[in-house]
Amino acid sequence: MFKKILIANRGEIALRIQRACREMGIQSVIVYSEADREAKYVKLADEAVCIGPASSAQSYLNMPAIISTAEVTDAEAIHPGYGFLSENADFAERVERSGFVFIGPSPESIRIMGDKVSAKQAMIRSGVPCVPGSEGALPEDPKEIVRIARSVGYPVIIKAAGGGGGRGMRVVHTEAALLNAVLTTRAEAGAAFGNPSVYMEKFLENPRHIEIQILADTFKNAVWLGERDCSMQRRHQKIIEEAPAPGIPRRVIERIGDRCAAACKKIGYRGAGTFEFLYENGEFFFIEMNTRVQVEHPVTELVTGIDIVQMQIRVAAGEKLPFAQRNITMRGHAIECRVNAEDPYKFTPSPGKITMWHPPGGPGVRVDSHIYTNYFVPPNYDSMVGKIIVHGDTREQALARMRGALQETVVEGIQTNIPLHRELMVDAKFVEGGTSIHYLEGWLQQHRR
Ligand code: ADP
Repeated sequence: MFKKILIANRGEIALRIQRACREMGIQSVIVYSEADREAKYVKLADEAVCIGPASSAQSYLNMPAIISTAEVTDAEAIHPGYGFLSENADFAERVERSGFVFIGPSPESIRIMGDKVSAKQAMIRSGVPCVPGSEGALPEDPKEIVRIARSVGYPVIIKAAGGGGGRGMRVVHTEAALLNAVLTTRAEAGAAFGNPSVYMEKFLENPRHIEIQILADTFKNAVWLGERDCSMQRRHQKIIEEAPAPGIPRRVIERIGDRCAAACKKIGYRGAGTFEFLYENGEFFFIEMNTRVQVEHPVTELVTGIDIVQMQIRVAAGEKLPFAQRNITMRGHAIECRVNAEDPYKFTPSPGKITMWHPPGGPGVRVDSHIYTNYFVPPNYDSMVGKIIVHGDTREQALARMRGALQETVVEGIQTNIPLHRELMVDAKFVEGGTSIHYLEGWLQQHRR
């Protein structure tokens, strides 16, 4: 096992990885930007090194600074968390070439899955069902684009091959709007992701977002750890996740889970990963794979009892997965609410000083957050400041625990979306379960104030 790991991230996920290291008796090095100097997990770290100013480009995305910190601190491996450099194949490659272990899949896997067009092609070859659409990237020829859209059938969605974080997507309802949409998405994709390539999919009208968590080692073992329902989204960004997905028969989930595990073996995948699907009328359609730990991993940890971050580290250190598929069981129900520093209804970011933080607790309640009273939420990064996760024997119990947890939580000094979560936890349709990816946007329209 590693003696020392460098954590190339910030906020709650840096703390999450630090906790995993502590439990495993591994020393950890935190790299931080000037904006994160006062964070408690930085102060409490075994070692902490400032790698640059607040701007991500000069700190958390600064590959030479991160790798040279690993060198001077004698770290053996680098955990990238999520976001930042976690899905950057060049970074993974540079880490390995510098003699460190990248805690994640191979650069080749990241590269294939990072391009959504090549990811879909790999999935089709591995027998994973995909959303119908263009076979590869869209050609330049406008006539060809029109022809493809007709054969797919309107509405269609134009998506950037290199897109992520819910950006770089445009829905097209009519042929009149098609070519313009392709041009704009191309231009945006080029600017935002450095890759102007776009592809087309059928726009599914009422799907749910269901994803499968997988773990694979370097001995050709791959397992799936159940599913998560992440349909509660705004602007293609998840805000509530749960496991298991309400109302989907187990045998339907098992069939797709087994396919995902088989695909991992086929492509030689290692580490943790997530296959994201849209689910409509009893069918799964692959949309993309995330080659890293996800924000919502705790709901899976709570229902399976498996520590996903520790498993990432074990597999990266060359250990075999300590369980087979038949040993994995799901118990009870878990729900996660992402706590964002933002206006709960207008969604404008609300950075600043937290004058009071009182986290919830009690049976079945887990809080993954780096904030504390007097912590200053910097304006430079993502607005998520933590996650409240609950577990119950049943979905009803989990919902009741989440309502209690949200009621207990106090955050003063900044605005958060906790009031929104409180309302959603008593919303009749959400409580019933099985809402589609468009439900929250519709709800917000109706409840606009
Ligand atoms: P990203 O990498 O930016 O997260 P995804 O491909 O995972 O992009 O899509 C994010 C979200 O966008 C999905 O969860 C879903 O809400 C919506 N979406 C993507 N593709 C489609 C589609 N073909 N039909 C309907 N909605 C879609």
